[in-house]
Amino acid sequence: MDASLILDPLNDAQRTAVSAQAGNLLILAGAGSGKTRVLVHRVAWLIQVERVPAWGVLAVTFTNKAAREMRRRIEEMLGIPIGGMWVGTFHGLAHRFLRAHWQDAGLSQQFQILDADDQFRLVKRVLKAMELDEARWPPRQIQGFINKQKDAGLRPQHLDTGVDFFTEKMIGIYREYESARARGGLLDFADLLLCSLELLRTRPDILQHYQRRFQHILIDEFQDTNAIQYAWLRLIAGQEGSLFAVGDDDQSIYGWRGARVENIQSFQQDYPDTQVVRLEQNYRSTGNILTAANALIANNPSRLGKNLWTEDSDGEPIRRYAAFNEVDEARFVVERIRHFVEHEGYRRDECAILYRTTAQSRLFEESLLQARIPYRVYGGLRFFERAEIRDALAYLRLVGNPDDDGAFERVVNTPTRGIGERTLELLRGRARQSGISLWQAALDLIEAGELPPRAGGAIQRFVALIREQGRSSLDPDLAGITRRLIEAVGLAEFYRKNKDGKGQDRIENLDQLVDTAARFELELEDEEGDPLGTFLAHAALEAGETQGEDLGDGVQLMTLHSAKGLEFPLVFLVGLEEGLFPHSLSAEDPVRLEEERRLCYVGMTRAMQQLFVTHAESRRLYGREEYPSPSRFLSEFPPSLIEEVRGGGIARRGNPATGVWGSGSVGSGIEGFRLGQRVRHPKFGEGVVLRSEGEGSSARIQVNFAGVGAKWLVLTYARLEPVSEHPRT
Ligand code: ATP
Ligand code: MG
Repeated sequence: MDASLILDPLNDAQRTAVSAQAGNLLILAGAGSGKTRVLVHRVAWLIQVERVPAWGVLAVTFTNKAAREMRRRIEEMLGIPIGGMWVGTFHGLAHRFLRAHWQDAGLSQQFQILDADDQFRLVKRVLKAMELDEARWPPRQIQGFINKQKDAGLRPQHLDTGVDFFTEKMIGIYREYESARARGGLLDFADLLLCSLELLRTRPDILQHYQRRFQHILIDEFQDTNAIQYAWLRLIAGQEGSLFAVGDDDQSIYGWRGARVENIQSFQQDYPDTQVVRLEQNYRSTGNILTAANALIANNPSRLGKNLWTEDSDGEPIRRYAAFNEVDEARFVVERIRHFVEHEGYRRDECAILYRTTAQSRLFEESLLQARIPYRVYGGLRFFERAEIRDALAYLRLVGNPDDDGAFERVVNTPTRGIGERTLELLRGRARQSGISLWQAALDLIEAGELPPRAGGAIQRFVALIREQGRSSLDPDLAGITRRLIEAVGLAEFYRKNKDGKGQDRIENLDQLVDTAARFELELEDEEGDPLGTFLAHAALEAGETQGEDLGDGVQLMTLHSAKGLEFPLVFLVGLEEGLFPHSLSAEDPVRLEEERRLCYVGMTRAMQQLFVTHAESRRLYGREEYPSPSRFLSEFPPSLIEEVRGGGIARRGNPATGVWGSGSVGSGIEGFRLGQRVRHPKFGEGVVLRSEGEGSSARIQVNFAGVGAKWLVLTYARLEPVSEHPRT
């Protein structure tokens, strides 16, 4: 390919970066200025023009979704698959590295990854084994402590136990956790990076091999790397390699997880010869969106500071909607989306709903379901985290590695096979005593005949079952293994009989797991290691990020954190309320407040053509009713760019674009009361209708009374009268 094809679609500053001589380069630029585009073109440039072999390039980014997108774009530009090239997330690449060097790293070949939930359970098991009270030693806190240490590169032996009793105990728990983890052949997320780093540090031969191999290392979203990730990159780059880092300090949103935006400054000190390129033209958003985002972020005092401008027209104003409550908010957003799709020619996947916390997604999902609009959730409804999927995966893990205690505990009595807590205690006791896995303990006790006859029989059958399946684990037919296993261990049957009303869903999810396995087989070709192990690692790495299924053209729902780097023609930024966004945990702390504001900036700058911002005047969240004030961020947008979408009143009736209280919970069928309507009650005085439940004689509505607050009333007895409408302001 000719160099001009790579450079033509770029502006001058972008070209400078893409065609730079080998050497270290830092691109510091605002949202939508083409940083990711430059990175992709740079890879194409290296391969096509500089003739760097694909395996000599390492490109790392933040999410699996972004990594897939990056690979796709590179392949599209080059017109060839780039299987050998290392493109992925830090965790994904570290995993690939450890799979190739499991022996050098002292790992078992079948090592598995503990995701956040597995890790939490392991911490609980350790506490139990140590006979520590969870109330005094909260597992979440301990999990946080362990991860923090590992992210700082510290194993238990590096920590000073002499500080005080509390610290000493925490370190003791950390030590126990480490040995349980190692015994099971498991690595947690932080271990992936830490083990890689330790191996590179202790084995100069391996390090040298990778330093020679990776002449070019490219990093997207550099502002969100943490200390250990940065150390890993520096090590692999060595003296000779070229680092190409791309980032925006205004989009640093992982400080709470140890990301260090200071890495941007350190970079220039660590590599004094670094060439810095700034990109100032934004190609993504309209003038209004960009001006509002710039105005918002200007409120952050600690910034490196930069300009962003666009050639695009001002475009539509930013539309702000004050909803009565969260139900109204969801309905407004869904009706708008319906309008855009049905009347303005947008695809559903061009619409994104972005929220601060995963708990907010449920109502939007319900409204979308009701409106029969397909959607897709990222980071919310987590396919690989559903109970039935975790059960099936635990079986698969156990088949690959019977010493995996977490998997053993999870499925030994699911479905029920008469193995009770007492028997398990016996196994745990033996495992603790002899420092062996539960599986080994089971074998020991069976052999010694030390189990009561019934329990002994049940355990024996369980062991035989797993062994039987184990014979097939090297089979490359992943879908086949998965399907057979689900049947053989009785999971399918178990859920078929399940009475919680979700049995059918769960069976369908299990079927989907088989499909996922089948799709995975196709992608597997260039991967090292055994197919089952790689599949399980994939499941662990994807948990918490995407839904397993791809529904094609669906509305995109995701947290602001998972929206980083993406763009959508229409963006609905919802829940802009004090306490929710900025989050109550951050509002008081100036440093965290700045991070919340950056998160808002990230959200706004995802929008290409239109941005809607919404907040609710009352919200039920985590089981409590709140009456939040609008987010301070809203008042930081220039007022001239905002157009208020009016609620209430007749104007909204019959207009799908602005949202009708149609088939929803307060239908026009309920005695003519609408959400948001003002009403009078003989005893409580005047109030506003917030929501309703049920129908006919059991219908109840909730009214927020000026004097006494929100109350639920049975409609037939409530003696409510409508009050004449004032236009809402
Ligand atoms: P973010 O900070 O959000 O990650 P970014 O700086 O990585 O943004 P990109 O996603 O690379 O920005 O680019 C934003 C949009 O602008 C994309 O749609 C991209 O294709 C387009 N774009 C970038 N540069 C140009 C250019 N020179 N000409 C036309 N379009 C461009
Ligand atoms: Mg980007």
